[in-house]
Amino acid sequence: MQASDLLQIAKTYGDPVYVYDSEKIISQYQRLTNAFKGVKKLQLNYAAKALSNITILRLMNSLGSGLDTVSIQEVELGLLAGFKPENIIFTPNGVSLEEIEKAAALGVRINIDNLSVLEQFGGKHPDIPVCIRINPHVMAGGNSNISVGHIDSKFGISIHQIPHLLRIVDLTKMNINGIHMHTGSDILDIDVFLYASEILFETAKNFRNLDFIDFGSGFKVPYKDGDIETNIEELGKKLSTKFNTFCKEYGKELTLAFEPGKFLVSESGFFLAKVNVVKQTTSTVFASIDSGFNHLIRPMLYGSSHKIKNISNPKGRERYYSVVGYICETDTFASNRRINEISEGDILCFHNAGAYCFTMASNYNSRFRPPEVLWHNGKAILIRERETFEDLIRNQVDVKELFETKQKVALAK
Ligand SMILES: *Cc1c(COP(=O)(O)O)cnc(C)c1O
Repeated sequence: MQASDLLQIAKTYGDPVYVYDSEKIISQYQRLTNAFKGVKKLQLNYAAKALSNITILRLMNSLGSGLDTVSIQEVELGLLAGFKPENIIFTPNGVSLEEIEKAAALGVRINIDNLSVLEQFGGKHPDIPVCIRINPHVMAGGNSNISVGHIDSKFGISIHQIPHLLRIVDLTKMNINGIHMHTGSDILDIDVFLYASEILFETAKNFRNLDFIDFGSGFKVPYKDGDIETNIEELGKKLSTKFNTFCKEYGKELTLAFEPGKFLVSESGFFLAKVNVVKQTTSTVFASIDSGFNHLIRPMLYGSSHKIKNISNPKGRERYYSVVGYICETDTFASNRRINEISEGDILCFHNAGAYCFTMASNYNSRFRPPEVLWHNGKAILIRERETFEDLIRNQVDVKELFETKQKVALAK
C-alpha cells in the first residue's frame, strides 16, 4: 500500500487511526509455512493477544491458522470469529482452575503451566488430554519484560520438576498430548532456540501419547532500517531436520506447532496521527501528536523504536525531532529522530503498529480509542469504529443522590 492510500484513510476516518495491510499478513503466514515445508504436519496458531480484532481473527482462520489464546475472553472471541474449538489452544499463565475448566468445557485444547493446577485438573478430569508448558531455562528474548524462559521466569513448569510432573500424570492417569515452550519475544539467536528445542525433545520422550510439540514463538521482526531479524528460513531448515529425526525415534508423525503473534502482524500495521504543535525549546524541536501512550505504549513500556515517517512531506529536508504525545505525563515516542520537515497538521506514520499496539490501548486521560481499518484488495474497510463519549461512561454508575448539592459533604474543621 502507498503513502497516498494512508493519507486518504486518515482523511476518511479521521486521526489517529490504525491501518492493517492484509497482504503483508498473508505473505508472512506463507513465509513461515514455506520455511517449514520439510515437516509433514505443521500447525500455526496465531497468538490472538498481538492483534485481536475479530476481522483479523477471521482472516487468520481463512488462512488455515489455529488460534493461541491466553484468556477465556480470547477463547470466546476466537469461537465468535469462526475457529473450531479444536483449533484453539488455551495457554494461560496463573489463571484459576475454574477458567481452565470453562475453556475445556468449550472443547478447546488446554495447556497447563504449573504443577498445582495440573494435579487438580488431572484429578478431576483425567479423560481430558492436556498439553504441558515446559520452562527449558534458556535465556532468550529482547528485554527482561518479554523474555519468559529464564530461571526466574514465572512461566512454565521447570524441566527440573519433570519427576514430580511424571508422578502426577501417573497418579491421576491423565493424558499428556502435547509439549510446549515459549521462551520469549525477539529471538535473535537461532542456536539458542535450537538448544531449547533439544530440551523439549528430551522431555517429550517421557510421554507416549503425544500429538504435537509446540515451540511457541518470539520471532524478531525488523523495526528500523538495518535491523536484524530472526532468519526464519534457516531456522525452518534446521529445526525441521531435528524434528523429523525426533519423530522417527519417537515412532509417530507428530505435529510441529508455533504460536506467532508479532511475526504475522507487526509489519502489517501503521498508526497515523496528526501533528498538533511543533514546539522549539532551547534544546529540542518537539512534534506533539494527536495521541499518546493511551494509543501506542510500546515505546514507553519496552523502549521499542518504531520507525516514524512524515507522509505529508516525504521529500522535505530532514531535521531532528522528538516526537511526543498529549498525555499529561512524559510520553515520548522517539527522541532525536531524523524526520522530513514537520509542519503542524502533517500526518506522521508509525511503522510496525500491528502487534501489541491497539490491543494495549487504553482510555487514559479519558480519550477515545482509535478506529481500525483493514486495507484489503486495494480497499479500505473499517473494522472498528472510533469510540464515543457513550463508550467512556457505559459502565460507570453515576450515583447522583449521594452528593446532592443541598447536602454538601461536611469537611472537618
Ligand atoms: C505472546 C505469546 C506468543 C506470541 O509471541 P510473539 O512474540 O508475538 O510472537 C506466543 N505464545 C504465547 C504463550 C504467548 O504468551
